[in-house]
Amino acid sequence: MRFTSTLAETLAPDLLDRFLRYVRIDTQSRRDRTQSPSTPGQLDLSRLLVDELKAAGLTDATLDENGYVMATLPGEGETIGLIAHVDTSPDAPGAGVEPLVHRDHDGSAIALPRNGTVVQAPAGHDVVTSSGDTLLGADDKAGVAEIMAAVAYLAAHPECPRPNLRVCFTPDEEIGEGATLFDVERFGAVCAYTLDGSDLGELQDETFSAEEVVITITGVDAHPGWATGVLVNAARLAGEILAALPADLTPERTSGRDGFIHPYEVEGSAGRAVLRAIVRDFDDDQLAAHTALLRRTAEEVVGRHPTARVEIEVTPQYPNMRRYLDEFPRAVEAAEQALGAEGIDVVRTPIRGGTDGSRLSAMGLPTPNLFTGGHDYHSPREWASVQEMAAAAATIVRLAEVWALGAAPPPR
Ligand SMILES: [Zn+2]
Repeated sequence: MRFTSTLAETLAPDLLDRFLRYVRIDTQSRRDRTQSPSTPGQLDLSRLLVDELKAAGLTDATLDENGYVMATLPGEGETIGLIAHVDTSPDAPGAGVEPLVHRDHDGSAIALPRNGTVVQAPAGHDVVTSSGDTLLGADDKAGVAEIMAAVAYLAAHPECPRPNLRVCFTPDEEIGEGATLFDVERFGAVCAYTLDGSDLGELQDETFSAEEVVITITGVDAHPGWATGVLVNAARLAGEILAALPADLTPERTSGRDGFIHPYEVEGSAGRAVLRAIVRDFDDDQLAAHTALLRRTAEEVVGRHPTARVEIEVTPQYPNMRRYLDEFPRAVEAAEQALGAEGIDVVRTPIRGGTDGSRLSAMGLPTPNLFTGGHDYHSPREWASVQEMAAAAATIVRLAEVWALGAAPPPR
C-alpha cells in the first residue's frame, strides 16, 4: 500500500521512531488493581511522554497522581481532545518486546524468530511485528505514537490551522479502568477522539451496552450418607441454571448487532456456588431483557428448593456511546470530513465490546473511536502497518484543520 498522502509520508519516519521506542517499554496492566495505574511500567512510558510533549513545545504537559498524562497545544476556537491508552493487554506476554520492521512486505506468511509464531499481513505494507514471544503493543501504542507525531508536527508547523487541542494518555484501559479516574472537567474538551481502533478508515460511534451479573446460590450442605431429603446441592443448581439458558444467545453463536449472555466463571461446592456472567447488547431494552431472563432463570431453578437461597447482583459496566454521540453529531461529522480529506473511505462498524470512549461519552465527553492501523490485538501475532499508522496520524492533522476552519478542506 502507498501512503495515503504526502502528509502521511512526511509523518511516517517520526511516527515509526516513536512507536518502536514506546513498544519496548513494558506497560502491561494487571486485573484486580489496588492502585492506579495497576503496574509501575505504565508510568515509565507516561513520564517519557511528558518529556517528549514538552520537547515538542506542549509546555504544560503533566502526569497526575493516577497516571494520566495531559497536555495542551493551543489553537483557535473550541477545545478538542485526543486520547490513547499506554497500557497493553494482560492476555499475552508484554515484557521484553523486540519489534521487527519488515519493509515492503510481499504478502507471504512471516515466520517470526521466536516460538514459531507466524504473522499474516497483506502485501505492500511496511509491517511491524514483535519477535514472536510477546505481543507487539500496537494496542494502543500505535494510537499513542500517532497522536504524538501529529501534535509534534502541528507544534512545528504553526501555519497549520488547529483548534485548542487537549491530549490525554490514560492507564489501565485493558482492564476496563481507563475512564475511571479521567478528570473530564480538567480536560475541558467539547468532544474527543480515542485512537484505539484497527482497520484503515474505522470510525466507531457505537459500542455494546454492558452489564455484569453475579449469581450467588446458597444450598444446604449435609453428610452424603444422611443427606436424604436435606441436601440441596448449590453446585448442581448452578449447572441447572446454565443448562436452562438459551443455547443460541452466546458470544460464539451471535454476530453483528446481536447481543448475548456469557457465563464466564463458575465456582461451586454443595454449600455455595457463584456464577459470573457478562451480558451485552447494542440496544438497552434488549440488554435489560437478557439480564431479566438470566435473573428469572436463576430464581426459578433455585425457587424449586425452599431451603436454598439465591442472590443476584447486577452491575452496569459501560453504555452504548451512540445515544451520547447522537446529541453531539459534530464529533462524528468532523471525523468523516477529516478521513475524506485524507482520501480514506469511512468504515462504520459497531464495536462488539467497549472503549474508553463508551464511559467517557456517558461522563459528558462525547468520544468516538478512530482506527490506528494495528491488527490481531492481544496476541503474539499482533502487527501494525506503517502506512496505516501514518494515515491515522495524518487524519489527526486533517481533523485539527476541520475543527479550526469549520469545514472540510479540499483533498491535497
Ligand atoms: Zn486498546
